[in-house]
Amino acid sequence: MDFDDFPDPGFATLAVRAGQTRTPEGEHAEPIFPTSSFVFANAAEAAARFSGAIPGNIYSRFTNPTVRMFQDRLAALEGGAACIATSSGMAAILATCMTLLKSGDHLVSASGVFGTTLSLFNQYLSKFGVATSYVPLADLAAWEAAIRPETRLFYLETPSNPLMELADIRALADLAHAHGILLVVDNCFCTPALQQPFKFGADLVIHSATKYLDGQGRCVGGAVVGDQQRVGVDIFGFLRTAGPTMSPFNAWVFLKGLETLHLRMRACSESALQLAHWLEGQPAIERVYYPGLPSHPQHELAKRQQSAFGGIVSFDLRGGRDAAWAVIDHTRLISITANLGDAKSTITHPTTTTHGRLTPQERQRAGIGEGLVRVSVGLEDVADLQHDLERGLRTL
Ligand SMILES: *Cc1c(COP(=O)(O)O)cnc(C)c1O
Repeated sequence: MDFDDFPDPGFATLAVRAGQTRTPEGEHAEPIFPTSSFVFANAAEAAARFSGAIPGNIYSRFTNPTVRMFQDRLAALEGGAACIATSSGMAAILATCMTLLKSGDHLVSASGVFGTTLSLFNQYLSKFGVATSYVPLADLAAWEAAIRPETRLFYLETPSNPLMELADIRALADLAHAHGILLVVDNCFCTPALQQPFKFGADLVIHSATKYLDGQGRCVGGAVVGDQQRVGVDIFGFLRTAGPTMSPFNAWVFLKGLETLHLRMRACSESALQLAHWLEGQPAIERVYYPGLPSHPQHELAKRQQSAFGGIVSFDLRGGRDAAWAVIDHTRLISITANLGDAKSTITHPTTTTHGRLTPQERQRAGIGEGLVRVSVGLEDVADLQHDLERGLRTL
């Protein structure tokens, strides 16, 4: 589908229509192409496709029509020129780092990023001579002070996991660009339905499609979105060579997930806001982390940068780990699982699960305490979620 007749197609229209190409069979829904390779009319056409002289499918490690439809749709929703789908969110981050960094380079990352991302930087990139400095997400002066002549990337998530801190994307993009640095934003928590980092100057957007893009907890996948040279050529080249490829089946699930993304993000944001207000009134809870609350220190920035506040709510219990585990263990509806962004609400103790591989110092630097609980609010009725959390809170 091209939008030549539509000067400014809206998000909902793009979510349902962008990227689809029909085969001569005239199928209405997007088809899955479960084929590893593609055939050529003759040897000359094969040669021309391999050399890139003519476009077209070759081999599903790097060209598959279903995967391409997902890539084109996500690129349209983010407002980026190119998108590369990967086998997981971590593969998207790895592909970005392997493509854009070399030995001797330096990257500045927010200290509160996803735990496995920290492990990737600390245990693996470091082996290849790429150094990482960590700074508090919201401290612009700290980002500036961390810049070295060899700094190539700024890396962040906003809001952050699990403390829901925000980065001022515009301010960090301006700082990065003044020093020839690229700003990479992991947009997993907001998705383009709530926040479009390119509008604020970000250079690359990372996704774990596993979360909200799927939205029903079925498949693992990821994506990088950005400009044609860096993503469409350079990161594509890494994907073609190294092969962290998304399967056509997973691409199809994510493609269909994108069709309802804005509806789900709006619904879970409304429920999360209600739940956050209610949690703030609970005596066993010391603090609620949710950017939609006026008590959130960056509430004004959240209103400027996002169209809603997302589905993740975290809170600190006064009683530490025992209290956190009691609330988790008394749930009967909310699933105890580390995934997030599902239609089913989930609950996690970050210190002993998602962030358990960090050293105590790394956790402390990230601000993640023993009493912290993270809830990913799904699509159930809020009253039932409250009832489910209340059972544990009453025992404290
Ligand atoms: C889950 C997650 C990732 C990693 O994605 P996978 O699909 O699990 O590899 C990266 N960033 C954030 C913010 C995440 O929540």
